[in-house]
Amino acid sequence: ALMITDECINCDVCEPECPNDAIYMGEEIYEIDPHKCTECVGHFDEPQCVQVCPVACIPTNPAHVETRETLWQKFERLAAEK
Ligand code: SF4
Ligand code: SF4
Repeated sequence: ALMITDECINCDVCEPECPNDAIYMGEEIYEIDPHKCTECVGHFDEPQCVQVCPVACIPTNPAHVETRETLWQKFERLAAEK
């Protein structure tokens, strides 16, 4: 999963781009739910939030480093829940 750092300027552009609805407004800045973020695996070749973020504040979440296979399994689980 990816995460949003405190460099976020709350520009609002990433939230509507997320295919998994993983991005939400937190207490001060936008946040990413690691249980919903597939790093866009299953939807796009590149993380859409990273593509649009003007300040490049969306790195990999060090507490949620995942393989492509794990991300794919998460995509399938989320798809089954829909
Ligand atoms: Fe959403 Fe993709 Fe960004 Fe993860 S990488 S938060 S799934 S847009
Ligand atoms: Fe914050 Fe970047 Fe999302 Fe804008 S695109 S709200 S700066 S994380």
